[in-house]
Amino acid sequence: MGNDFKITDNFFYSEFWSNNFGKPKVEPPEKYFNNVAYIANKLQIVRDKLNEDFKPKKEIYILITSAYRTPEWNASKSVEGASSSKHLRAEAVDSRAVGVPLFVYYTYLIRYTDFNHLGYYKDKNFVHAGIDDKITVFKY
Ligand SMILES: [Zn+2]
Repeated sequence: MGNDFKITDNFFYSEFWSNNFGKPKVEPPEKYFNNVAYIANKLQIVRDKLNEDFKPKKEIYILITSAYRTPEWNASKSVEGASSSKHLRAEAVDSRAVGVPLFVYYTYLIRYTDFNHLGYYKDKNFVHAGIDDKITVFKY
């Protein structure tokens, strides 16, 4: 893949790349591309629905704080991610919707997508949403 492009109407592929200690972001291995595309499409549905329902003056947008993570970045002090984190396979995304409260965004993710690995991080102001073979819900 290599280069950046719009993966949906409002999301760039690179928004899902791994942070890398202040160096340029790292693209996921190609085998995870379908995971990124799947997640991006879900987020696009939620973004569209939020704007349709709230009709804000300034468009509501989704800020991705972490999607794919390299093993190095996942294990770093900045993240301290679980060693089996879904972020390592681009099966999860941490995000918030700028323009609506976090709980509203969380509700929309539950209502309008089939993400079933859900975490609510009130203090850090983001929601974790991932793909699993069973329902898992957690809260910090
Ligand atoms: Zn997460």
